Amino acid sequence: MYKLGYGLYVLTAKTAEGKDNGCIINTAIQVTTTPNRISICVNKANYTHDIIHETGEFNISILSEKADFSIFTHFGFRTGREVDKFADFKDAVRSNNGLFVVTKGVNAFISAKVVQEVDLGTHTMFIADVTDGGVLNQDPSATYSYYQEHIKPKPQKTEVKGWRCKICGYIYEGEVLPEDFVCPVCKHGAVDFEKIEG
Ligand code: FE
Repeated sequence: MYKLGYGLYVLTAKTAEGKDNGCIINTAIQVTTTPNRISICVNKANYTHDIIHETGEFNISILSEKADFSIFTHFGFRTGREVDKFADFKDAVRSNNGLFVVTKGVNAFISAKVVQEVDLGTHTMFIADVTDGGVLNQDPSATYSYYQEHIKPKPQKTEVKGWRCKICGYIYEGEVLPEDFVCPVCKHGAVDFEKIEG
């Protein structure tokens, strides 16, 4: 599955009460050109999922090769249910629909309105009409492979014995990783850990 190619996006939405949130997704694709429609798949555990389900509106900010790791830790590894991700975030502006677009490490944005939802169990697929968009610069879009190779910090040489999360780099110290272990940072399971060879 790691050979499948993806892009990377900051998905943003805003509640009816005006609370903004965003998360990282790799699941945006264009599904039809006429009408111009995209689909995204969002984990139901994400706060942004619930906001889009309620409001039917979202933006995606397309991450470029200039994106640094901090944007992934800021939007990716924690939940908007507990923190306001935009309270201390300066690199964003509002597009015509009133939702945030991230402006740093991003080369373009797309605004969309949901026309259909498909319940996929853990995730919902939102199919949406493109209502607006814009190009911010000509930096190449970041692929998931580019992120793995150039953006995600390289594992440090370490004396620590244990297991490393292949998704976010979290290290579990101990010989045996419990089968039901869940990464406290990115919430992936034991299957996504690799043993650190000394
Ligand atoms: Fe992790």
